Amino acid sequence: MTFDSTVLQGKKALITGGTQGIGAAVARQLAGMGARVIAAGLPPAGGWTEDLPLGKTGIRMAALDVSDPHSVSRLFSELDGLDILVNCAGIIRRGAEHEVDVFEQVIAVNLTGTMRVCSAARALLGQDGGAIVNLASMLSFFGGALVPAYAASKGGIAQLTRSLALAYAAEGIRVNAVAPGWIATPLTQALQEDEERSRALLQRTPLGRWGKPEDVAHVVAFLCTPAASFMTGAVVPVDGGYLAA
Ligand code: NAD
Repeated sequence: MTFDSTVLQGKKALITGGTQGIGAAVARQLAGMGARVIAAGLPPAGGWTEDLPLGKTGIRMAALDVSDPHSVSRLFSELDGLDILVNCAGIIRRGAEHEVDVFEQVIAVNLTGTMRVCSAARALLGQDGGAIVNLASMLSFFGGALVPAYAASKGGIAQLTRSLALAYAAEGIRVNAVAPGWIATPLTQALQEDEERSRALLQRTPLGRWGKPEDVAHVVAFLCTPAASFMTGAVVPVDGGYLAA
């Protein structure tokens, strides 16, 4: 355990996209620090079984579609308070994002969905300060020929993070983002399996490996603690040095 197991005792956390990948690692990490966590995401094809990444952890999983206003209001109507919001819900449609309807779908989940959940959370977080962490990307900093919507959404996440940091500061809500490098999750499965692309990514990554979801979860966790109490509006790379290379 990297952090004290009581540092988030009594805190309530919601992780969107928390049912797998980076979000599930964040859910486990925050729960391990004492927070009461809800991990929310799209209902899995096989149902909410014990085989899911959080299946045997006791962490509460909930259905949520961040692109659907009704789904977001339904989940928030069940919450009795909130201290931490981590927006991990995200999709990528490599190769299909030049089609405008696909472009809109990716923006609706990654960017508008994040804004929708932040807006819904604002009043709850503002009751006693609070922390929001959004998921940016390396594609917040440069373009992606095959993923124009994903890149636009993640560029947007960086600017949304800075803007909400300004807007929410007076309520004591800090808003930051992490920008992961190349992390081994279902989202990057195709890339991991593409030997040529994977080799090129690793060659440019000074630390020389794919990131693990836990690498990102540790930095998200730090941003949620009082240790980060003077940080807001930051977009923090967690990339094995990729941006510096
Ligand atoms: P993942 O595919 O493993 O998990 C995505 C999660 O988002 C799942 O829990 C899924 O249920 C949820 N989700 C998808 N659409 C949703 C919707 N409409 N409403 C609610 N939940 C929805 O992906 P991941 O790699 O863990 O990525 C998590 C976040 O980190 C994403 O925002 C992604 O863009 C970002 N990110 C990932 C990487 C990487 O290398 N894996 C790099 C940079 C940024």
